[in-house]
Amino acid sequence: MNKRAKISSFEQHNHSHCIDNALHEARQLCQKKAVKLTPLREQVLTFVWQNHKPLGAYALLEMLAEANNNGKRRVAPPTVYRALYFLQECGLVHRIASLNAYMGCCRPSQSHQSHFFICRQCSATAELTSTAISQTINQAAKQTGFSAETECVEVVGLLPAMPKLTATSPQ
Ligand SMILES: [Zn+2]
Ligand SMILES: [Zn+2]
Repeated sequence: MNKRAKISSFEQHNHSHCIDNALHEARQLCQKKAVKLTPLREQVLTFVWQNHKPLGAYALLEMLAEANNNGKRRVAPPTVYRALYFLQECGLVHRIASLNAYMGCCRPSQSHQSHFFICRQCSATAELTSTAISQTINQAAKQTGFSAETECVEVVGLLPAMPKLTATSPQ
């Protein structure tokens, strides 16, 4: 039998659950850390979570402009970058370096290093939850006396053959 580990972002699923969970966790986490999840920060997080494809800052700016007064009142880029920085610092989003884009973290309350599988065709991205990669890196670092701090592991390839991945819009 062909047994394959399931990665939810590569499987068909009800994505509105992912968005609901992410917002719920974000509110709880911010409350715990006594930091403020302002309406803009929450809106940015919701857009980042629109699907499992990392979202670039430029696309995010466009979406915000459209959502806020049909583009009449633009949110200034530094404001958006600050919101993204805040979300990143809280562990609510990860920056995908190779795509220069952001994606939501599905376990923000657990501190972890993040490793990703990125589909080169549709850019759907899955965060891995295995600790084996970190262990290997730390072991190798130890052997050389290198002090490892942050890991950036992004593996590009093709997601498993399956019925088309459906992206749910946030509306
Ligand atoms: Zn989802
Ligand atoms: Zn994460």
